[in-house]
Amino acid sequence: MNFKEYIRVIEDFPQPGIRFKDITTLLQNGAAYKEAIDEIARFVKDKEIDLIAGPEARGFVVGAPLAYALGVGFVPIRKSGKLPGKTIEADYSLEYGKDKLAVHDNAIKPGQRVLIADDLLATGGTIKTCVNLIEQLGGEVVGSAFLIELTYLNGREQLPAGKDVFTLIQY
Ligand code: IMP
Repeated sequence: MNFKEYIRVIEDFPQPGIRFKDITTLLQNGAAYKEAIDEIARFVKDKEIDLIAGPEARGFVVGAPLAYALGVGFVPIRKSGKLPGKTIEADYSLEYGKDKLAVHDNAIKPGQRVLIADDLLATGGTIKTCVNLIEQLGGEVVGSAFLIELTYLNGREQLPAGKDVFTLIQY
């Protein structure tokens, strides 16, 4: 399947000069959405993953069905102030902004093997922050998986060396 056909590029969103990759056009097509998740699941299924972690909000759209497909748990990584239990937090910067991410402090047990899932890898700031949170809890980051990679931003370099990075669509 040519997944790129299902991505819509919107100019100047959310700021002038940004060419936003809109995944909603892929999500609204049942066959394309299912095949995208299945394709990622095939790639990661032998990696002995205990948990998928996904950052709010589009990381849930990729990570939760992936966790379901693999039969493993899902850990939401959220913006500061959203999770009800005790959390740990870390600052992060985006391609176009700044924020704080948080995770429940008991969400990952030491030694658990965690794959991070998100819709898109841009500068790698989000993923780096997710790695930081998971490792603070003693989790082992196995790698990460994305629908889209903006290769010209070199976000992969933000992941520790030797970790798998799987991306379905590249720009
Ligand atoms: P990074 O932290 O710079 O790698 O940015 C990745 C994060 O920003 C992901 O969580 C994406 O959801 C979001 N993001 C950045 N650019 C885009 C885009 O063009 N389309 C959709 N999401 C984007």
